[in-house]
Amino acid sequence: MNIHEYQGKALLKSFGAPVAEGVAVFKASEAEAAAKALPGPLYVVKSQIHAGGRGKGKFKELSPDAKGGVRLAKSVADVVANTNEMLGNTLVTKQTGPAGKQVNRLYIEDGADIERELYLSILVDRSVGRIAFVVSTEGGMDIEGVAHDTPEKIITRAIDPLAGVTTVDVDILVQALGLDGQAAEDAGTLFPLLYKAFVEKDMSLLEVNPLIVMKNGRLRVLDAKVSFDNNALFRHPDVMELRDTTEEDEKEIEASKYDLAYVALDGNIGCMVNGAGLAMATMDIIKLYGAEPANFLDVGGGASKEKVTAAFKIITRDPAVEGILINIFGGIMKCDVIAEGVIAAVKEVGLKVPLVVRLEGTNAELGKKIINDSGLNVVSADDLDDAAKKIVKAVKG
Ligand code: GDP
Ligand code: MG
Repeated sequence: MNIHEYQGKALLKSFGAPVAEGVAVFKASEAEAAAKALPGPLYVVKSQIHAGGRGKGKFKELSPDAKGGVRLAKSVADVVANTNEMLGNTLVTKQTGPAGKQVNRLYIEDGADIERELYLSILVDRSVGRIAFVVSTEGGMDIEGVAHDTPEKIITRAIDPLAGVTTVDVDILVQALGLDGQAAEDAGTLFPLLYKAFVEKDMSLLEVNPLIVMKNGRLRVLDAKVSFDNNALFRHPDVMELRDTTEEDEKEIEASKYDLAYVALDGNIGCMVNGAGLAMATMDIIKLYGAEPANFLDVGGGASKEKVTAAFKIITRDPAVEGILINIFGGIMKCDVIAEGVIAAVKEVGLKVPLVVRLEGTNAELGKKIINDSGLNVVSADDLDDAAKKIVKAVKG
């Protein structure tokens, strides 16, 4: 689960991180009071959407020359004018896709005088099985470009889970970022507390881009992207309250109601699979034959007919889906339950795209019989390879 920048900053502040004063606004009428509550004379008006690249983003409704989704303002009146221009409009950034995201919240912040913009993130580094810091002197708006063109400028430091962030870790990070004096001293408290926040709140990503050195030599968290491990959310009711479902994919919200592991993707072949590993393999083989999956979906081990029906409806609801592949290896999951779920869903919502079904394992024969007797226009497949070829052919023609 992701949260907004202003929520992430409030959370980090509760752990002691240095962030600017700021006020979140939901209505244009709140902007003036929000700005007046800040010291000035420099303010920043920041679009709150669950996507980065806001600074360089463009509003769909405004002229291409208009300023982006993060704007500096030099007076209260300037804050109000920018709020009126931004709130309610659609911001398109590198991360939103061409449809963009409607800006329903703004964060009005006390502006900082920036000396340097650095990059810092904390993530789970699966290659070493540890939480790691990733830092670069090249912070600001284009870390993807840095990673692509000059990967040597990105330094990773994995943290020993037993020792936590040691002074050696801090020294290495401080050196990598070229910090000295007050900024280096600030890093000595900031880095361990960010790590503490990451671990205590079960984050999966904490990205501060930029972490800034201000003209006065102090460090400040200027941007914050915080994601949490969904599987640990039950431990954090306070975090769960920060959820903004208007930022999430409707299909993913629906899937979460049925406890389905579903991730929407950009392709056109809908997949219904049991088991995460098989779901990954299914996506891989679709790509191998030259098409793209529309989703990742693991219906899980002992899914009920209702769950399967819900899953199938979620897949068919996606207008990008031009074909569906059902790939089930029945173990605990029974193939006849899958077949009944699919038929119930088709009865409700119809089936307008080709459907390829591969059933194997527990009750596979019964499952095939149920589907064959249903009169559905289904292509059956013998194995995964055959199934992938058939669905790609059906979609590509
Ligand atoms: P992003 O574009 O979505 O990553 O949004 P950021 O919060 O990172 O802001 C984008 C850029 O706006 C930063 O890299 C800064 O250059 C600039 N910016 C943001 N806040 C301030 C501020 O308080 N003072 C100044 N001078 N620039 C700021
Ligand atoms: Mg940023």
